[in-house]
Amino acid sequence: MTKLSLNVIPPPREPQVGSTPPSAVVLSEPMRRFKCNLKGCCCSGWDIPFRLEDFLRLNDHLQGAEKEDLTHGIKLILEGEPDEKTGQQILDSLKLDGVGEDRACRFLAPDKGCSVHARYGPTALPDLCVDFPAFGYKQEDGRVELFFDPVCPEVLEQLDETDEPLRLFTQPGFFGDEGLDLRVAHTEDTISGRIGKDKVALLALDRIRHSSVEAFATTGPENPVWRPLAALAHAFRRLRIGNEGVFEVVEPEDPQPFLVFLFECIGAHGADLLAATAFRYQRFVWSIDPKPLLVPALAENLQDWKPAFERWLEPQEELLRPLQARWLAHRFGTPMVKGRGDLREAADSIAHVYGTSLRFAAAYGAVLQRPVDRDIYKAALGTAEFFFRSLNLPRESLPWFSAR
Ligand code: SF4
Repeated sequence: MTKLSLNVIPPPREPQVGSTPPSAVVLSEPMRRFKCNLKGCCCSGWDIPFRLEDFLRLNDHLQGAEKEDLTHGIKLILEGEPDEKTGQQILDSLKLDGVGEDRACRFLAPDKGCSVHARYGPTALPDLCVDFPAFGYKQEDGRVELFFDPVCPEVLEQLDETDEPLRLFTQPGFFGDEGLDLRVAHTEDTISGRIGKDKVALLALDRIRHSSVEAFATTGPENPVWRPLAALAHAFRRLRIGNEGVFEVVEPEDPQPFLVFLFECIGAHGADLLAATAFRYQRFVWSIDPKPLLVPALAENLQDWKPAFERWLEPQEELLRPLQARWLAHRFGTPMVKGRGDLREAADSIAHVYGTSLRFAAAYGAVLQRPVDRDIYKAALGTAEFFFRSLNLPRESLPWFSAR
């Protein structure tokens, strides 16, 4: 048996909220009203990684047997190799073993709410549990960006709350809302946009993202979402250091090359892998009952997707357009969160998710034998987001247009 000695030196921690307000916080406007559904979808299926300080804070709040049991079934994730002289190694994170077949968090109550949150409030929770589905990033001018991940079904519900074009919102300082302010206070990672290896100046970056969001405000029956998406893909493809200040979103004379790329995105992945993702994502699906989808016919319709696409999805284009336009504006509002910050790769990555969402939607419609409505599409969009979030696909396995 290997004996391990722990010398605990917790990092210094800023007070969680209220000390230094950020100069501003930028987020998608609908996310100001985000509320978790308290159904525990993100509290199972994985061993949640805690940082040491999260763990110590939790330990401070728990009482009696629960406190004593906290260290049972704990895994230490260590960083790098042990120091040659001292044998010491840095602790990256701690993982608490999940409970049962679906590896649920041990603090998940039978009603699927969080028992730590219910008893001790959000300040007792590990940061990750407070923050998800938001990811905070600091800009070099002190602004904080809060990006809400559409893997979460309530983010999709917020996007679907109206048909109005989505806008970005800038909040001066804190919100006065505990959930949002804790997420802002936890923000440590920085963010910037690049073209290749070169960093894009903040002013140009803001112009690019605002033009991108604006592009989806003009969709309508005569202007389906693929048109502004094609115009944006061309604008990102023209992007070079030197011309980043003139980011013009103009519809291409010939949309055919973009449409070829979009169809490559739709057909890019193996049906079995996609069907397995739908199975793993089911705990996040609340807009429809996911159980009837998880049948062998799903893989068949994902494989042979074109007939399903024509019958169950294409006639629904106008019904789905407002939601698709809002999701695309939400994603392009912070495009640099993908593609390791390269703007052209990030733009193509959004098209990858969009294409895959269409493939899931068509197959879901075919399995359910009904036209794809918004509730089916939300399930499809979330599954596509989850597919790219949970798999680290090699660059060469994906089609590229702007970043070709
Ligand atoms: S996935 Fe979203 S809605 Fe579901 S429990 Fe997590 S934060 Fe709440």
